[in-house]
Amino acid sequence: MDIQAMQKMLMEKGFIFPTAEIYGGLAGFFDYGPLGAELKRAIRENWWTGWVWGDNDFQIVGMEGSTITHPKTWDASGHLDVFHDPMVECAKCKGRFRTDQLLEKKVRESSCDGLSLKELDALVKKHGVKCPVCGGEVSESRWFNLMFKTEVGAVNTLEAYLRPETAQLIFVNFNRIVKTSRVSLPFGIATIGRVFRNEISPRNFVFRCREFEQMELEFFFNPGEKCASLKKIEDVEVNVIDRKAQEEGGDGQARKMTLKEVVRHKLTTDWHAYWLGNSWQFVTGLGVDPKKLRLRQHMKSELSHYSADTWDLEYHYSFGWKELAGIANRTDYDLKQHAKASGVDLSMPLSEGGKLYPHVIEPSFGVDRLVFALLEDSYHEENAGTEGRQVMKFRPGLAPIQVGVFPLVNKDGLPEKAKKIVSLLKAGFRVFYDASGSVGRRYRRQDAVGTPFCVTVDGQTLEDGTVTVRERDSMKQDRVKVEDLEVWLRRRVFKA
Ligand SMILES: [Zn+2]
Repeated sequence: MDIQAMQKMLMEKGFIFPTAEIYGGLAGFFDYGPLGAELKRAIRENWWTGWVWGDNDFQIVGMEGSTITHPKTWDASGHLDVFHDPMVECAKCKGRFRTDQLLEKKVRESSCDGLSLKELDALVKKHGVKCPVCGGEVSESRWFNLMFKTEVGAVNTLEAYLRPETAQLIFVNFNRIVKTSRVSLPFGIATIGRVFRNEISPRNFVFRCREFEQMELEFFFNPGEKCASLKKIEDVEVNVIDRKAQEEGGDGQARKMTLKEVVRHKLTTDWHAYWLGNSWQFVTGLGVDPKKLRLRQHMKSELSHYSADTWDLEYHYSFGWKELAGIANRTDYDLKQHAKASGVDLSMPLSEGGKLYPHVIEPSFGVDRLVFALLEDSYHEENAGTEGRQVMKFRPGLAPIQVGVFPLVNKDGLPEKAKKIVSLLKAGFRVFYDASGSVGRRYRRQDAVGTPFCVTVDGQTLEDGTVTVRERDSMKQDRVKVEDLEVWLRRRVFKA
């Protein structure tokens, strides 16, 4: 299914809508409907439970930062200077476009990264690139900063920005968090929140939008120490396409290798490999097909201003391999920048004496990209008996609706009995009651939104206290006693 068809289907089922559709929507902004909101929430909770509350060798604490913060934050972080994309304007229709996107059909993707405006304009000239809308001549490129500006207060207003990433709120609160949580190295600070980027041309549905949500972990460590925890996951196999492979063969095949081999071949550091592995496991743990995942190392020219090394965890979307998460080595860049700009010492005392600005590995997930990957990955079209069916094969724990409950017919006391079962199950599951249409059609509707189990109350229920439970993927049916139903479902919905 292509992205347009997918978008239409997700809208019709209640996952994701264009924002304020009654007013024509707004490019780059989306709202999540009842099912999308549940799915997003389940993903967030999975991440928080696994990473912040998980059984780690070290402490990870959470925090929530404000979306508008002191503007000096963005000066110190470098965002005011370099968080921008190159842009041209059409002389005829005044349309504005990202220079590198105009060039992407002419030159290899990512080869525009790191080029100066002059170099980009030379490529525009060389390839005779024109306005994609009207064919007009385009201007020379200029930088366009992606931060949204706003004003704070009514008098002596302060020019401020909506945050373009959550990470900086962790760095500016670093001293407070270290003191109050009494953490020692290594440790992590995690946060989930909305961020805003004024993209020149948002596209690919929720993949690149102007407001989105991040789940970011800043993991602080002493680079002079080895990562002992890598042992725990060193045998995990990942698909790798490193810098050298890209230099040699372009965008070719990823190699399958263990994290142990990644470190042994010196593709990256042990601490970085550890978080590459954890990020990989988090996404495959949600049920995403590992064959559609790869870890791609950034080329030197692609690296952000703060990064010594970055790997993208990429998913093979219907529109190609794209970044799902970025796992960056930010070194001690941010803490040192903020220390310099604020005059506050942000180093940490070491147990063996002395002080250190810890280094940082940052796994950063786009929640919306993850939702979208999961939706694409879960979607299947199958033949079921005489007719086809659409089915979303979410892991049961993540499914927006976990149990559908139906009375076989709308009479003979069956609806009353079914509603009692709904009440019984509501404490533990996300439950949906449906009494309209044939049972076959009700099954199909639940298949299409990924409900893993459907419970049908029929005449036999009134006689022997059993119900039919039908499983989504196998379409097999079981007879289960109502009194056992909760435990029966719990085992299957929340299995590891
Ligand atoms: Zn034009």
